[in-house]
Amino acid sequence: MQAGTGGTTVARHPGSDGPGLDAPDLDVVVVGAGFSGLYLLHRLRRLGFSARAYDTAGDVGGTWYWNRYPGARCDIPTTDYAFSFDPELEAEWTWTEKYATQPEILSYLRHVADRFDLRRDIVFDTAVTAARWDDGRHLWEVSTDAGDAVTCRWYVMASGCLSVPKPPDIPGVDRFRGDVYFTGRWPHEGVDFTGRRVAVVGTGSSGIQSIPLIARQAEQVTVFQRTPNFSIPARNGPPPPERLAALAEDREAYRAEARRSRGGMPYEVTEVMGATADEDVRRERLEGAWQRGELFGLTGVFADQNVNRASNALVADMVRDKIRGIVDDPAVAEALCPTTYPVGTKRPCLDTDYYATFNLPHVRLVDLRRQPITSITETGIDTADESFPVDAIVYATGFDAMTGALVGVDITGRDGLTLRDHWSAGPSTYLGLMSEGFPNLFMITGPGSPSVLANMAVAIEQHVEFVTDALADLRAAGYDTIEPTPRAEAGWNQHVADCAAITLLPGTDSWYMGANVPGKPRVFLPYIGGVDRYIDACEEVVGRGYLGFTRSGRAGTTCNDGVVRRMQYDVMLLLEAMDALALPPLETLGAPDARGLWAAMSAMAPPGPDVGDIADGTLPGPTGPLAYRRYRPATPGPHPVLCYFHGGGWMLGDQTADDPLCRDLSVRTDSVVVSVDYRHAPEARFPAAVDDARAALDWVADHAEELGGIPGRVTVGGYSAGANLAAVVAQQARDAGGPHLAAQLLLCPVTDGTTEHPSYVENGEGKMLTAGLMRWFWDSYCDPSDRRDPRASPLLGRLEGLPPTVVVTAEFDPLRDEGVAYAEGLAATGVPVRHVVGRGQAHTSIPMVDVVISGARVRQEAAEALRALADTPMDVATR
Ligand code: FAD
Ligand code: NAP
Repeated sequence: MQAGTGGTTVARHPGSDGPGLDAPDLDVVVVGAGFSGLYLLHRLRRLGFSARAYDTAGDVGGTWYWNRYPGARCDIPTTDYAFSFDPELEAEWTWTEKYATQPEILSYLRHVADRFDLRRDIVFDTAVTAARWDDGRHLWEVSTDAGDAVTCRWYVMASGCLSVPKPPDIPGVDRFRGDVYFTGRWPHEGVDFTGRRVAVVGTGSSGIQSIPLIARQAEQVTVFQRTPNFSIPARNGPPPPERLAALAEDREAYRAEARRSRGGMPYEVTEVMGATADEDVRRERLEGAWQRGELFGLTGVFADQNVNRASNALVADMVRDKIRGIVDDPAVAEALCPTTYPVGTKRPCLDTDYYATFNLPHVRLVDLRRQPITSITETGIDTADESFPVDAIVYATGFDAMTGALVGVDITGRDGLTLRDHWSAGPSTYLGLMSEGFPNLFMITGPGSPSVLANMAVAIEQHVEFVTDALADLRAAGYDTIEPTPRAEAGWNQHVADCAAITLLPGTDSWYMGANVPGKPRVFLPYIGGVDRYIDACEEVVGRGYLGFTRSGRAGTTCNDGVVRRMQYDVMLLLEAMDALALPPLETLGAPDARGLWAAMSAMAPPGPDVGDIADGTLPGPTGPLAYRRYRPATPGPHPVLCYFHGGGWMLGDQTADDPLCRDLSVRTDSVVVSVDYRHAPEARFPAAVDDARAALDWVADHAEELGGIPGRVTVGGYSAGANLAAVVAQQARDAGGPHLAAQLLLCPVTDGTTEHPSYVENGEGKMLTAGLMRWFWDSYCDPSDRRDPRASPLLGRLEGLPPTVVVTAEFDPLRDEGVAYAEGLAATGVPVRHVVGRGQAHTSIPMVDVVISGARVRQEAAEALRALADTPMDVATR
């Protein structure tokens, strides 16, 4: 049974039929008065909700109120890093630079507050300290450090992703008697470093922006660097003319494109793969990224740089070469070169003269990897090798990102559950917006949203609109509470993790992973699927009647349970790309053309991993020689042998057609893989392929040793129709008393010619292998009268006494249920079975080596299961 995608239950809500609920003081309390809080107040007012915001700050601005360090500016072009909800606001504001300074952005946000008269609903200099859900009265009780207590129906944390500075976890921090500054809490009156010796700890974006300007004033600057960062020149100047022109031409279209983009602003998306591009194309793109001075230029030089290490290394090498070209002292240059993580897996930076600053005689870099800080002292900083006396220390040591402000408030939801406890193993949200157990609590750019991986102005606007529209919809429908279901939330968490797992990002210690804060659970925090995909998911949730939410009130309770994204992200992309090709359905082509198209598509596939050696040969079949290809691992042999049959509906392909998969299986299972061809339909119909497969299996078993294998350690396997043949010949081998099989490996097998399983309907369309194509394969291969023959439908055969079996099924495969049925049938007769479920996979995605990256996990699990089963002492086949 598959998890359903939706189901609505409606019941009356006992306490909410009439006017029984207390009226709260306010409809909405908002925490924060930065970009998010300001827009929230504006929208809520427009929709007729009463609302109040609180901020610890003394004025509006959030990030731009607090981060006043020298050099602070945005690193998304300000043409894009601004509100877009009001054309008049846009028209009346002119940015002076491509990347505006902190004072200019703060003036802008003050202007927004004035223009929409927002300050009258903001309480400044006041921290929200606690919020408690009252389940009887359906409201939040919110407390502040000023001793206020206020009740509200809905409570929104617009408290920022990067608003809680991380305390520097360095011994002796409290001992220093000089001046201490935090970039994230910079004094409003500014700091004059003239004539002073300054230490800067930290070389993330804040350090990289501030160091060149501090060096302009200070007598001496010592930079304490733990991990070097990738930074490219911002090339600041006037706002980019091409962006201004595009906005002037069609503002609406430009803003719409931003929302349909991955990063929340229009930019060129390349299809050039670093791994395969020509050298001159690579060079041009790399230099272009360096010259352009945009973050998404650096993270998007190549389409594959975030998933492919070799491609990523090209970009990293380029930045390192540039650093070496700028910094005079080769030792300092090397220390500034990031080498321990792929580019983009920590947040990269844009700078102005950062690397050149290290050529100044009064600036020194201390590489903490070589000489770690042992202690801060009364007079400076001690490392393992030296003492550095200084007058001032600047901590640019970052933030407790994404969750810090959220768990910084003592939030208690239903049944006394605190958010801190609920998230003790890492945050858990639905769409990054809400968390189960905390009705009516919203987060703006919470964990699980694109937020920090995007232009946040766009991410924030979309979130605010989702939340405020949801409140308006609740009110219109007679509901007063909304909460995600456990299933919806778990599904979203899984999707967020799956998306990240495809990329190189989770492998690096970064604040995206919570790794910068000691003790914080290591979970990839933002949603890496992109603003566009995220908005699609949100729109789908609303369009399907608030899928994944329970809403209740005087209208009763509606639980519309379900998971919005079950398919793996890269499978989704693959299916979309195939769709865009608009190829004719194979079943409309006739066998020769279908074979031609199949072969052409196979030829475009990446080659798969290297193996020790590959050899081609023939073996005797019942009507003539059968071609085979043998893949031998690079590890010392002899190895177990896998006799493999290719997919292609008994009609298409040959012994080389699944080349990348066979290489992959050889490496993962550490086996000799012998891929054998067989006669194809419609020219040779059932049971020709079975007869060939049987002969091949006998031959491979007899010749295991000369193939480089271990005699007696033969497994039979295949993919799709090839797995059908493997299952059939395993039954025949059992009945014939040999050859002895160590195991069988059935990848997305065809096991039942009735084609009546529910997955034929559920997954019958739009997923490459369609029900129609499968029926064409069957009709071409086998007469209807023969389909109940176990040699065609092994599910209908006797299953006792078969060798240990690994069955792999794909969630979005028309053949899924017959694979499941085969695994269950075998297990029921006592055959040791491992059923590997390709969660979120389609029939064709699992074998697509180096195309569908998420498929690798499934193949790895299958390979490990095979090794475990084949090594079990229980020798079922010979019992
Ligand atoms: P914030 O601006 O962080 O505002 C949250 C507010 O909530 C703060 O004022 C805080 O005081 C208040 N608050 C938190 N907890 C409480 C509480 N318990 N009680 C009362 N008040 C509370 N993003 C980009 O897209 N592009 C950029 O170029 C960019 N540059 C950045 C530069 C710096 C130096 C930093 C730190 C971040 C940058 N960001 C950038 C991210 C930036 O945080 C967001 O773009 C955006 O400003 C966030 O707005 P916000 O309103 O959601 O949160
Ligand atoms: P950050 O990227 O987390 O950088 C913190 C730096 O401090 C890192 O170099 C870190 O080293 C170092 N550090 C932390 N603790 C340390 C310790 N105990 N000892 C020695 N070094 C220590 O923080 P940030 O620079 O404030 O930037 C945070 C985010 O805010 C950015 O990634 C970006 O999203 C945003 N931001 C943007 C801009 C902009 O250009 N618009 C400017 C500033 C900030 P390790 O790497 O080894 O942990």
